[in-house]
Amino acid sequence: MSRVYNFSAGPAVLPEEVLKEAADEMLDYKGCGMSVMEMSHRSKVYDNIIKEAEADLRDLMNIPDNYKVLFLQGGASQQFAAIPMNLMKNKKAAYIVTGQWAKKAYQEAKMYGEAVEVASSADKTFSYIPDCSDLDIPEDADYVYICENNTIYGTKFKTLPNTKGHILVSDVSSCFLSEPVDVTKYGVIYGGVQKNIGPAGVVIAIIREDLITDDVLEGTPTMLKYKTQADNDSLYNTPPCYGIYICGKVFKWLKKMGGLEAMKRHNEEKAKILYDFLDESKMFSGTVAKEDRSLMNVPFVTGNDDLDAKFVKEAAEAGFVNLKGHRTVGGMRASIYNAMPKEGVEKLVAFMKKFEEENA
Ligand SMILES: *Cc1c(COP(=O)(O)O)cnc(C)c1O
Repeated sequence: MSRVYNFSAGPAVLPEEVLKEAADEMLDYKGCGMSVMEMSHRSKVYDNIIKEAEADLRDLMNIPDNYKVLFLQGGASQQFAAIPMNLMKNKKAAYIVTGQWAKKAYQEAKMYGEAVEVASSADKTFSYIPDCSDLDIPEDADYVYICENNTIYGTKFKTLPNTKGHILVSDVSSCFLSEPVDVTKYGVIYGGVQKNIGPAGVVIAIIREDLITDDVLEGTPTMLKYKTQADNDSLYNTPPCYGIYICGKVFKWLKKMGGLEAMKRHNEEKAKILYDFLDESKMFSGTVAKEDRSLMNVPFVTGNDDLDAKFVKEAAEAGFVNLKGHRTVGGMRASIYNAMPKEGVEKLVAFMKKFEEENA
């Protein structure tokens, strides 16, 4: 068996320790004679798995008691609709468009009410985060929406926007658990777990309790109503059982690693290795404003499409896979999520140096 260094943006690398543990428990989970995939979601055993996962997540993120934690399905993309359906009481919301995912959320929201684009970085191919300290937010907007880490473009909000008292809703799919956050600053924090936590199929939504009500837009499906999910502790119907189980293992791994403060230091160290090299290289360069650089997704280019393709190919042959940039932006992108070891980034940089020498 040989494992590659997987720089995929998602589904993405998972901690090897977690995969091994899951493999060990595959046929017989803790003496119950079956796999977690085969057991009832109403069983005592499974109840422990989901409750422990929630408790560990609450611990890691220091989630206050007045926030619910929901384990949902439908991907982050389904939340693009669920959010307006549940929160658009005045049928108006402000969107900050910093990339494709934010744009998709914005466009989806338009189907349910008046979505107002209050800031955008589309003018420079989403290569920066706009100044959001004094935006023109409609008085009656139900919320302000951001995509906190832009997976495709590699930018991250380093300070949250001034929402002028409005509820902040944030898509954290690609920076979930990468550093500590102050949950109290948000109304809703949500993300698909397949970027930085677990296998595809689970979305975690952390929602302030007062935002979970029966007062939703007419026609909101039962399954998309946060209240349905909250009242049933994410067990209204069959949840993505196995995915939640793996997430739970990743939470335990994160706690063992020292929690989110430690992850932040670890991620900063890793990102610095790569960004420092990009800043000094004569061949490779980063594509986003330095002050807005993501710790998780690092896009870069050589400036020559043929050379980019050659690099991606030779890197893959050397065991550094999924470095091709998003199909809409080209170039390269290294996603260096929590589970990417520092050694993986060091070896990638060594490979880039060698490539630069050989192709100068
Ligand atoms: C990947 C991604 C999405 C879409 O996730 P799905 O689970 O595929 O719907 C949304 N937002 C961000 C920031 C992402 O990185």
